[in-house]
Amino acid sequence: MSTVKDRPYWWEEAEPRPADEGTPPETADIVVVGGGYAGMGAAIPLSRAGRDVIVLERDRPGDGASSRNGGLTSGNIRHSFSKLVNKFGMEHAKAFYEEGMTAREDLFSFIESEKLDCDFQLTGRFTGAMRPEILESMKREADMMHRHLGIEVKIIERADQHDEIGSDLYHGGAVRSDMGGLHPGKLHRELRRVAEASGAKIFSGVGVTNIERVGGTFTVTTPKGKIKANHVIVCTNGYTDKGLPWLRRRLVPVISEMIATEPLSPNLMATLMPKKQMHGETRQLGHYYRPSPDGTRILLGGRRYDNDAAKARERLRGGLLEIFPDLSETELSHHWFGFVAFPMDELPKLTIHDGVVYATGFCGSGVVWARWMGQKAAMVVMGQEEGASAFDKVPFRAIPFYNGTPWFLPVMMNWYKLKDRMTGTLK
Ligand SMILES: Cc1cc2nc3c(=O)[nH]c(=O)nc-3n(C[C@H](O)[C@H](O)[C@H](O)COP(=O)(O)OP(=O)(O)OC[C@H]3O[C@@H](n4cnc5c(N)ncnc54)[C@H](O)[C@@H]3O)c2cc1C
Repeated sequence: MSTVKDRPYWWEEAEPRPADEGTPPETADIVVVGGGYAGMGAAIPLSRAGRDVIVLERDRPGDGASSRNGGLTSGNIRHSFSKLVNKFGMEHAKAFYEEGMTAREDLFSFIESEKLDCDFQLTGRFTGAMRPEILESMKREADMMHRHLGIEVKIIERADQHDEIGSDLYHGGAVRSDMGGLHPGKLHRELRRVAEASGAKIFSGVGVTNIERVGGTFTVTTPKGKIKANHVIVCTNGYTDKGLPWLRRRLVPVISEMIATEPLSPNLMATLMPKKQMHGETRQLGHYYRPSPDGTRILLGGRRYDNDAAKARERLRGGLLEIFPDLSETELSHHWFGFVAFPMDELPKLTIHDGVVYATGFCGSGVVWARWMGQKAAMVVMGQEEGASAFDKVPFRAIPFYNGTPWFLPVMMNWYKLKDRMTGTLK
């Protein structure tokens, strides 16, 4: 039996590199905390506008979720469009979804105009319906999205499913042709390259332990000294630590984890993933999966609800075999995890509190959202109208009885598991 590497498959080609490990300067115009997509998204427009920006990263830039994710460029919002209409009304629901569409297109055009080498392909995404009645509700949702947002969702009946995926697990599904996939590690590497080329100074191994507002400026404390800054942008998402207590009370960090298979034969890949698309499914604890950018392997992810890493890996493997029973003899090559962050209302956040700008809460869909909200945060700092977001008026509430240690997570995961069992979508 081959050994499974417990590090991201993506790191084979694009492992995060340390940045400047020296002491940051004592003053800066803008301090960005966190060196993932959101941090780079903020640093690029600021430094391009000639502002003095430093990015402080506790580990290596990219060590967070930004070099570990599935690379699906969905720009998803956790709630369906109809649910948002019920909760916020048509005008707000449209604004939320439209911002997701704009953010996605903005990423695609940035990749193109900056010639980012990140294996981006607009492949489309197939979401499998776990039950026949779910396909019916997908049809209603597709109709609503077409009427109100102009989004084309192609419904696939079960009889035609094999054109999309070599699996009998689903009862049909839906294809979104405006979504695709990329190499997340390479995307981060490229964003960092652009940020550095624009003049942003990036430091690694500098964790922020306190942010204090003193009159019109800020004092940012780190183990390597204090920095005085005119502005602070916080982009720490699922890795937010005790140095940022206000944010910690508002975000639940959740483990998302992935496996990669060993290379499969071209014939098998063509049968299992004939369109080389991205994939998802309609269950509470559903899987997301895709071919590797070179088309040789399958990478599959899901939420973790077992503390034991070996059991967690087996559960993911079980998920893979449920979709593709033909892979029962296939070995895994990699298994890894990272943290994503959920605010209570499960909507992305662009919030100012006590003068600090927060870009966060991407609910596992930050490939599009994180760079976008980081960029918005930069525009807020520069006083530009484009810094406005459909999400900036939505309150960012503290979670009751919570200080950043998610004691309730096992209960929630079991509840989701139970819901999946009750709806017959989990065996
Ligand atoms: C396994 C997995 C699969 C995923 N799949 C997808 C997907 O397919 N599509 C998608 O859209 N999204 C996906 N996501 C989510 C996506 O990766 C994240 O939403 C996105 O990377 C968040 O970017 P970020 O810059 O906000 O945060 P991160 O990339 O997590 O960066 C935050 C950084 O802040 C640093 N930090 C924390 N505290 C401090 C401090 N006090 N001082 C200094 N630095 C600090 C951390 O070290 C970290 O590097 C996935 C995530 C995971 C883990």
